[in-house]
Amino acid sequence: MFIPVTDQVYLVSPEERGNFPNSFSFYIDDEIPTLIDTPLTVWSQAFQANLGDRPVERILNTHFHRDHTGCNHLFPAADVYAHPADIPAMVSKDTFISYYGFDRHADPALTEQIMAWIKWQPCSVTHELHDGQIIKLGNIDLTVIHTPGHTPGHCVFYWEKQGLLFTGDIDLTSFGPWYGNINSDITQLIGSIEKLIKLGPQVICSGHKGVVEHNVREQLEKYLARLLEKEESILKALRKPQSLDELVQHKLVYGRWGKAEEQYYYFEKISLLVHLRRLIELHLVEEYQGKYRAVTNPSSQCAHM
Ligand SMILES: [Zn+2]
Ligand SMILES: [Zn+2]
Repeated sequence: MFIPVTDQVYLVSPEERGNFPNSFSFYIDDEIPTLIDTPLTVWSQAFQANLGDRPVERILNTHFHRDHTGCNHLFPAADVYAHPADIPAMVSKDTFISYYGFDRHADPALTEQIMAWIKWQPCSVTHELHDGQIIKLGNIDLTVIHTPGHTPGHCVFYWEKQGLLFTGDIDLTSFGPWYGNINSDITQLIGSIEKLIKLGPQVICSGHKGVVEHNVREQLEKYLARLLEKEESILKALRKPQSLDELVQHKLVYGRWGKAEEQYYYFEKISLLVHLRRLIELHLVEEYQGKYRAVTNPSSQCAHM
């Protein structure tokens, strides 16, 4: 797929559906021809076929995940930009593994299975992204906005003149925000989504939903609401004290698990740990005799500060 979004911006994807593990990249045809994100390595051939012989001089990676960086290697001469908080996981396999929490929380066989599937390889990052930086591509200026939470260094790129925002994995899909890395941070993620609501873009180019042109504000608000609903459901479940393993069985984050149960179990568990870390900080949950339980009279009444 190679589909125009404006006369200079194109959606490019190896497959029509953008749901993970596929993703949408965006090609900007300007003085500095630029790609925003590249898909998983497994789609190298299809991605290149869709892109054709168009030049790529620069890659802006929204974050380190392989469904956004996996085909960077197809463009060895391109400058590659990423945020310093995510660069370590793009250049070091050990850091990638520790960002996912595999080293502390996963069975080695599961880690190996996932690492083999994503075909991790180092990216040669040449430039850092920073909040507020303006990236000049010729006709188009993009403002970098640091939007941590999904990953520590997640960034979005704003073409202010057109009200067009490239949002990576603040993706507006119906699943809702994903925070299944051990260093994902829900308080930061809420702040990042709120920042985008305030920004008020007219069009969003999302890494998994594609181009969103209608009810953009409403969709961002719904996306945030889905995250907060999950948090409420965790608090409700913890009125009865539960161990992490017991809580995982409720499938409160994923709702349904797919066939690869072991992987779903793992990411459900990590997502819950990320929620619990925040809820404990907010004094809404406490650990008691090896279990988690909701605090009955929390000093803080609001879960969403
Ligand atoms: Zn991601
Ligand atoms: Zn993604």
